[in-house]
Amino acid sequence: MNEINLFIVEYEIQIRLGFFFGIFFVMALWEIFAPRRQLLIPKLLRWSNNLALVFINTLVLRLLFPAAAVGMAVFASEQGWGLFNYYQLPMFVAVTASVILMDGMIYLQHVMVHAVPALWRLHRVHHADPDFDVTTGARFHPLEIILSMLIKFAVIVVLGPPVVAVIIFEILLNATAMFNHSNVQLNLKIDKLLRLIVVTPDMHRVHHSVEPDETNSNFGFSLPWWDRLFGTYKAQPRDGHEAMTIGIHQYNRPDQVTWLHKMLLLPFIGKISEYVINSRYQK
Ligand SMILES: [Zn+2]
Ligand SMILES: [Zn+2]
Repeated sequence: MNEINLFIVEYEIQIRLGFFFGIFFVMALWEIFAPRRQLLIPKLLRWSNNLALVFINTLVLRLLFPAAAVGMAVFASEQGWGLFNYYQLPMFVAVTASVILMDGMIYLQHVMVHAVPALWRLHRVHHADPDFDVTTGARFHPLEIILSMLIKFAVIVVLGPPVVAVIIFEILLNATAMFNHSNVQLNLKIDKLLRLIVVTPDMHRVHHSVEPDETNSNFGFSLPWWDRLFGTYKAQPRDGHEAMTIGIHQYNRPDQVTWLHKMLLLPFIGKISEYVINSRYQK
């Protein structure tokens, strides 16, 4: 292994936690000083529960997959597995292409968890948050987190991305998820320009609407291009950002969706939701 890869493997946790806390802090301050919408639930209650879920997810991932995606990329390169380990391209090209393609896979995965009823059950934990802010960005059920990691492993084995591309991708995904879920005011002209290269909070908020056609739009996490390319882009919510309702219809009472144990149980209650792509016209 070369020196950069050794450094990444050795300090992966520290690098990622450093970015996580740094960006979280900036977005949290921005939300306090320039909020986009008024929140419904007291921050202390939501944040403590959402962050407890993040803590559990981090622990589960480290226990199940101690080497994480970076470890899988090292393994694939040692075995010579995957496209970019097989064809030696200039580093810059391989890294850029890998980051873009992995982001495309996350887009497809996101469409999939909305389309397949059983997977929507997991993913609705993310959508059932009645408010939309920086902590929503990391609010996922542990089973969805495990599924994401397994899909990531499969993509890495096929793609063979450089190790540095994997850590860049992980940091970018984490950073953009916190940014585009945050409840921040952003000048509309700047939002329009930013949308050309990154998913903005106004763009992703549409995806958290209770309206099915809006929820089934804007699946992108980091790059906004996939939604435009595959026809799932919706510029703004019908009711406007301040008046729109965030969450899902069936589970919208704060006592159903705010507490940690309720989030963990949410995938296992109720009938298969009508809130998925393949049955969105049924009532
Ligand atoms: Zn979603
Ligand atoms: Zn989201």
